[in-house]
Amino acid sequence: MAKPLTLEEISARLKAAGPVGASPARLLAVSKTQSVDAIRALAAQGQRHFGENYVQEALAKIESLGPLDLVWHLIGPLQSNKCREVATHFDWLESLDRPKLVPLLARLRPPQRAPLNVLVQVNIDDEHSKSGCAPDQVLPLCAQVAAASGLLLRGLMAIPAPVPDMALRRAAFRRMRALFDTVRTQYASVDTLSMGMSDDYELAASEGATEVRIGSAMFGPRSTT
Ligand SMILES: *Cc1c(COP(=O)(O)O)cnc(C)c1O
Repeated sequence: MAKPLTLEEISARLKAAGPVGASPARLLAVSKTQSVDAIRALAAQGQRHFGENYVQEALAKIESLGPLDLVWHLIGPLQSNKCREVATHFDWLESLDRPKLVPLLARLRPPQRAPLNVLVQVNIDDEHSKSGCAPDQVLPLCAQVAAASGLLLRGLMAIPAPVPDMALRRAAFRRMRALFDTVRTQYASVDTLSMGMSDDYELAASEGATEVRIGSAMFGPRSTT
């Protein structure tokens, strides 16, 4: 594995890769399996947004890093029995993929907190992955989120199949961008398209991602996942 990239290196690459005239994609640092100290070190360099996959693991980190006022995103699959923790402790949910969770999250979001920012996760390759809703379900699910109190629809997220053929990945990113543009014309709150990971974030940025989610390229390889 290549040497981990610094925040400056990643932001320079994101700036270079993105469409001319657009603001560079935001970096979501994917800190699953990483230590509190590793997160603290990045936060000390100015990184604000962190992504976690497992609710239980994230809660301990959110708790111990509370004073740093970081912005926490859940990017892993969400079970209905974890909605309370997510609604209570996270700032963003990027993996909403079914209608059933919407009323639960809306009811459980504490009224004194800002609305939970929500991305609808799309299964853009329609393949074996069970995560994400089908593309034809995106608009109904967005409408449901937009109408729910305590939730703020911010956009879409996808994890395209990690195929070696980069032309296929580019095509998936383009389909996501087209869906995103459709959703964005309907909801003023929508501004976020989260796609691209360690091995394809520059490609995703060039296809109009507004957020990329990077773990191993920045932290080094994970011992477990
Ligand atoms: C783990 C993970 C990432 C980051 O993966 P890397 O390849 O380590 O950059 C991004 N998004 C999701 C949803 C993940 O689960």
